[in-house]
Amino acid sequence: MSDWSKVTRPIPVPDEWTKPFWDAAKRGVLELQRCQNCGDFQHPPYATCVNCISTDLKFEPVEGGGTIYAYTIMYHTGDQRFAGAVPYASIIVEMDKAPGAFLPGNLLGVPYAEAKVGRRVEVLFETLNDDITLPQFRLAQTTSTA
Ligand SMILES: [Zn+2]
Repeated sequence: MSDWSKVTRPIPVPDEWTKPFWDAAKRGVLELQRCQNCGDFQHPPYATCVNCISTDLKFEPVEGGGTIYAYTIMYHTGDQRFAGAVPYASIIVEMDKAPGAFLPGNLLGVPYAEAKVGRRVEVLFETLNDDITLPQFRLAQTTSTA
């Protein structure tokens, strides 16, 4: 199991595009940017829809679980702040209710070798400080795909 107890994560700095994402995470809600014209989700947020170039974009809550789309096991780290957790799993997750939006995170609570493409995961929220809460992932606790 990766030991995250000695890791002090870098603190993300919200900007005009990402602030709604971070504000929702602080409330314990995953919200992703959705195009109101074509309905596609996208992440990270952009000024325009990457599918239809519409600027009519809003953040919407995304419930339920997701699937590991890709992963890498970090045996070395260029950023020494993460050295205490090596080896650890960095994963890319596609949420069931937001196909096309890919969220990066770490797979927490299980040995890094549990990271496999196609495994079911769910979001958990890791409080970094008073302002920033980081959406992260753990293996799904239920077998539902709803
Ligand atoms: Zn669109």
